[in-house]
Amino acid sequence: MGDVGVDFQFSQEENDFRKLVIDFIDNNIPKDLLWKESDSMSDANWPKVIEVRQKLAKAGLAIIHWPSKYGGQDGTQTFQLILREEMSQRGVPDSISFDDGFNFIGPSIIDYGSDYLKETHLPGVSNGNVFWCQGYTEPGGGSDLGSSRTTAVLQGDEYIINGQKDYIFGAARADWIHILARTNREESGHRGLSYFLVDMKSPGITLRALDEIHGRSSVLNEVFFDDLRVPVRNMLGSPEQGWQIAMDTLNRERSGIEVVGKTRGLFVELVDYIRVDYSNLSTDMDIGEVKLKLGEMSAEIEACRIMAYRVAWLQDHGFDSGYQASMSRLLAIEMWRNFTYLALRILGHYGNLSGGIESPLEGKLSRGYIESIAESIYLGTPEIHRNIIAKRGIGLSDE
Ligand SMILES: Cc1cc2nc3c(=O)[nH]c(=O)nc-3n(C[C@H](O)[C@H](O)[C@H](O)COP(=O)(O)OP(=O)(O)OC[C@H]3O[C@@H](n4cnc5c(N)ncnc54)[C@H](O)[C@@H]3O)c2cc1C
Repeated sequence: MGDVGVDFQFSQEENDFRKLVIDFIDNNIPKDLLWKESDSMSDANWPKVIEVRQKLAKAGLAIIHWPSKYGGQDGTQTFQLILREEMSQRGVPDSISFDDGFNFIGPSIIDYGSDYLKETHLPGVSNGNVFWCQGYTEPGGGSDLGSSRTTAVLQGDEYIINGQKDYIFGAARADWIHILARTNREESGHRGLSYFLVDMKSPGITLRALDEIHGRSSVLNEVFFDDLRVPVRNMLGSPEQGWQIAMDTLNRERSGIEVVGKTRGLFVELVDYIRVDYSNLSTDMDIGEVKLKLGEMSAEIEACRIMAYRVAWLQDHGFDSGYQASMSRLLAIEMWRNFTYLALRILGHYGNLSGGIESPLEGKLSRGYIESIAESIYLGTPEIHRNIIAKRGIGLSDE
């Protein structure tokens, strides 16, 4: 099952960085943005989100993991995970803590972009001004990106793109989108796909908003491309290198640390709540059972945390982290679902409340329970992670 790195201590530098991140959150993020994911892209909140992103960049925290040549500090993936963990633990919105630009497309432009793309895009990504979204999923083909039907046909010095992307997070707020499109229609599956950077203001793009179960509206969108014209120089990497770039980008996302962060944050709050007055709860569980369940939960959280940092360790030491990232993400999403369900059971009928003075933890747990549905879909469903582990981790082929 591959090598295991064993070093369970954070370095002094990593601990100092963690402290800086916590101070930043405490002093720079308006309290009304915390634990309000569903509201973070509203007209009222979006300017605040942009301001925090800019401050994070100015403070030198957002791209610490980038090479110094591009404005970073040559930090490791572990630094990046520390930032994402602390932010999630305090309920910072995804558009700050899990930002596509700082964390995903920025590093991919560094790895695969031409000088032109680096000069054009890296400054706007690194200062937090430009917001990116990721366009991979298509109708009927989210798990299997190789079935992508969006086409890009070369015409002079432009590609003409036609197709549709689905469930795109933040598309209505995004300045740019990065997508996969098929440039070689003779090829099928993951061959023949290329990677494009597309200005969301281009003619030929329309959006349709999707409303989600937990009340979030317009954050997910369908994105339609009708004879969209994209300059050849906006291709990232070379023709038909799209699959490789997409896999590299996805591997940066799948450690599961965000889920670990928010579970740790809410676990502590839940325990504090219970400690104050257990007799006030309306649960069907007695205190002995609650203690046992929380003890077990705490072990699950710790195991997931170690797995997530191990993914960063593998990346920092130049190892492939593909199936280990799937292991980590799979266990983290199951842990989040188990935790939010257990928490609601402990809270009894109070757990049903999503706000108001009687609502424990201001409804964070009931919202988390509903969000756990979406959490187990994006960045790969559990079946997809199990398949990756079976194939690449334990060597079982498709037959
Ligand atoms: C909140 C949210 C945010 C999202 N944000 C984005 C975004 O920003 N950008 C983006 O591109 N996409 C985004 N997505 C889409 C997400 O990545 C896809 O929904 C996901 O990849 C699953 O694809 P699908 O919904 O098309 O399901 P399908 O791929 O059609 O799968 C349907 C079911 O079949 C199972 N299945 C599929 N293939 C296999 C297999 N080989 N073996 C066993 N079982 C299988 C799946 O597990 C699932 O249960 C988001 C989704 C959500 C819910």
